[in-house]
Parts: sequence; structure tokens; C-alpha cells
Amino acid sequence: MKTIWLLWGMSWESSLEYYRIINQLVKAKLWWLHSAKCVMYSVDFHEIEILQHQWKWDELTKIMIKAWEFLENAWADMLVICTNTMHKMAEDMQKSLQIPIVHIADATAIKIKSLWLQKVWLLWTKFTMEQDFYSWRLRKQHWLDIIIPHVDQRQVVHDVIYNELCQWKVYDESKKTYISIINDLQEQWAEWVILWCTEIPLLITQDDTLLPVLDTTYIHAEQAVDLALS
Ligand code: GLU
Repeated sequence: MKTIWLLWGMSWESSLEYYRIINQLVKAKLWWLHSAKCVMYSVDFHEIEILQHQWKWDELTKIMIKAWEFLENAWADMLVICTNTMHKMAEDMQKSLQIPIVHIADATAIKIKSLWLQKVWLLWTKFTMEQDFYSWRLRKQHWLDIIIPHVDQRQVVHDVIYNELCQWKVYDESKKTYISIINDLQEQWAEWVILWCTEIPLLITQDDTLLPVLDTTYIHAEQAVDLALS
């Protein structure tokens, strides 16, 4: 089994989900007491979140590369950045790394294409919805049509992620708000909704909507396990 390097803490609430899913999948595939071989490094998300909202992406890139330096002697076969937004630095990080990054956009795009989907409706942080680092990759490398919510809805989705889910607060009121946004997407002929933020599955699951849901946390973790066991 290969060793997975998990870059954690963005936020720790969704990092826990990664750890659970990865270990459950390894156990399901290998059975008995098997669990994943992992190396973990967890950042202080407060520092990250402040720099994100100040749009200091260069500083964030340095922090992400520094995180790698902490563990570069800890032998691992692949890096999993346990968040979507911070994949903004993935290309720059890859230049300093000797191991491959399991890119969450690629993992999810492969899944989307395996389901023969072309148009996907996405719920993200505002950073990923409104900057092109992510949608560019999906459009140009995977030929997907990306549709995101209206600007007011984007702000609501973003605020719930940072003010609630990243602080382990899961409120019924916010769930209702998200469901109403998803229903709105359905009226715009959405066929699938992608929970493209690693905390959203803490709030919304397949039980909450008739629209089929894809969860990027699960898909990313599953891709890492497949590679680790290949
Ligand atoms: N984990 C979230 C994501 O998937 C948001 C927190 C972050 O900025 O990393 O984008």
C-alpha cells in the first residue's frame, strides 16, 4: 500500500471526514483491520482564512509550500490537499514537490465524465466560484460546462461555509437555505448538483434533495485510496 500525505486543517472539520472516508474505503477494499498509511500535517485555518479574505494568495502559496517542507523527509507517495479552495496553489506547489498532487478537480471531473454529465451546477466558496483557477481547469482540461449560483446565493453559500461549517456549527436554518438554492438550480434544469466544498457534506446529503448529489470530499478521498492500493 502506498502512503498518502494529507494536508489538513482547511478546515479540520472536513479533514476528519477525509480521514474517516479514506480508512473506511481501505477497510472495505482490504477487509479485516486494514487502515490507510498516512502522513498528516495540519495548518492553523485562522491564519489561512484571514489571508484568503485579504486576497494574499502569494503568501498563502508560501505557507502551503512551507507545509510541505515540514514533512519532506516523511516518505509519502502522493499529496492530498484536503480542501478545494487551496488547490489555487496546486500548480505552484507541484513545481516544488517530488510526489504527485491528487488534484480534487481532476478526480471529480473524471467522476462527472464517467456519469456522462456535461453541465454541472456547483456550490463552492466564493473564491472558487469567482476566480478562474478552478473553472478554467474544468472547462479547458475537462470540457465541462460550469454553472454557479446567482451572486446573492454565492455570498450565502460562502458565509455558511466560513461562519458555520468551518466552526462545526450545523444549523437547520442554513440547511433550508441551501436546499432552496438547490431547488432553484433544479428549476434552471440542473440535473446534478456538485457539493464542491469539503464542508458542505456536513450540511447537505443525498437525503435532502431529489437532485442527484456528488460529494467532492468523498470522490477525492476515493481517488487517493485507489491510487494508494494500485
Ligand atoms: N474546505 C473548503 C473548500 O473545500 C473551504 C475552506 C478553505 O478555504 O479551504 O474549499
